[in-house]
Amino acid sequence: MEDYGTETESDYTSYWRDWFISTRGNEYFCEIDEDYLTDRFNLTGLQAEVQYYQYALELVTDVLDIECDDEMREQIEKSARHLYGLVHARFIVTTRGLAKMLEKYKKGEFGKCPRVLCSGQPLLPMGLHDNPGTSTVKLYCGRCEDLYNPKSSRHAAIDGAYFGTSFHNILFQVYPAMVPLKSARRYEPRVFGFRVHAAATLQRWQEEGRGELVERLKEARVETGFVDEEEEEEEEDLDDDDDSKL
Ligand SMILES: [Zn+2]
Repeated sequence: MEDYGTETESDYTSYWRDWFISTRGNEYFCEIDEDYLTDRFNLTGLQAEVQYYQYALELVTDVLDIECDDEMREQIEKSARHLYGLVHARFIVTTRGLAKMLEKYKKGEFGKCPRVLCSGQPLLPMGLHDNPGTSTVKLYCGRCEDLYNPKSSRHAAIDGAYFGTSFHNILFQVYPAMVPLKSARRYEPRVFGFRVHAAATLQRWQEEGRGELVERLKEARVETGFVDEEEEEEEEDLDDDDDSKL
């Protein structure tokens, strides 16, 4: 992580938060609104979590004015980053925070799902725990509903608690139109073009079961969330020559 001190001297950025979110590796974070940070109510309970809490808060809100040595400065800087992350987890589940994260999601700033059949579905950051120091950030794909490790080591080191276990689910609850259509397509193992017998038998059995369930859901007028099979065939051209789809 670059040193904040050198950045301010260049006068390139004058605000700590600007510097923080524009630092490489911090692309998953959105900018927390100033009025959110300055409302003590939003910071309840964080005092015990962050060393040099008061100085850290002053640094984050650009009002820190103390003389101290480099070592102390480094400590305060570290605390400020931790404090920012903890407040971030709270901010991104507010109306304003959700809107900011939605913009980043739409631009694919959290990356795209690596699964081939998800066709570049954008991901959302999430934590497996809400307590800091337990696990690092993971990425959630709304299409295959699975979790992935971030590609970059800079991102892989971020604490998952800075995003929390609920944010990605709340975003889809608040913006239901953003829920991606589910895909029933999956990889079919083949040897020289012929389906592998055991795998094909299992898949046929599973797909029959799924078909029955989808029918039952349709009868009950429950939205299944699956893309229409035909529509999907047109959308994907991965196996154009495959005419033996079950
Ligand atoms: Zn996916």
